[in-house]
Amino acid sequence: MDKPVKLPTGARHGTSVAYNKHKCRCPKCRRFNREYNAAYRANNPEAFRRQKRNVLAHRRAMTRLRERMPDLYTEFYEEELQRQ
Ligand SMILES: [Zn+2]
Repeated sequence: MDKPVKLPTGARHGTSVAYNKHKCRCPKCRRFNREYNAAYRANNPEAFRRQKRNVLAHRRAMTRLRERMPDLYTEFYEEELQRQ
């Protein structure tokens, strides 16, 4: 399990700020994210299906790109990696 990241004064673990902004993955923050996503899914089934479809479409597109234009894929993928 990941250790809690050090948060600035006023920010608490188990909140959206800690999980998303500070990228904390301690048990408290992961629990927050899990419950947040579960609530989102329950309240927006259509949006969740759409999101899932988009993720799958992106994955398929990347696979096709890798197969058909490996040079472009490498270029694109390296950009993606640098942004993280
Ligand atoms: Zn945390």
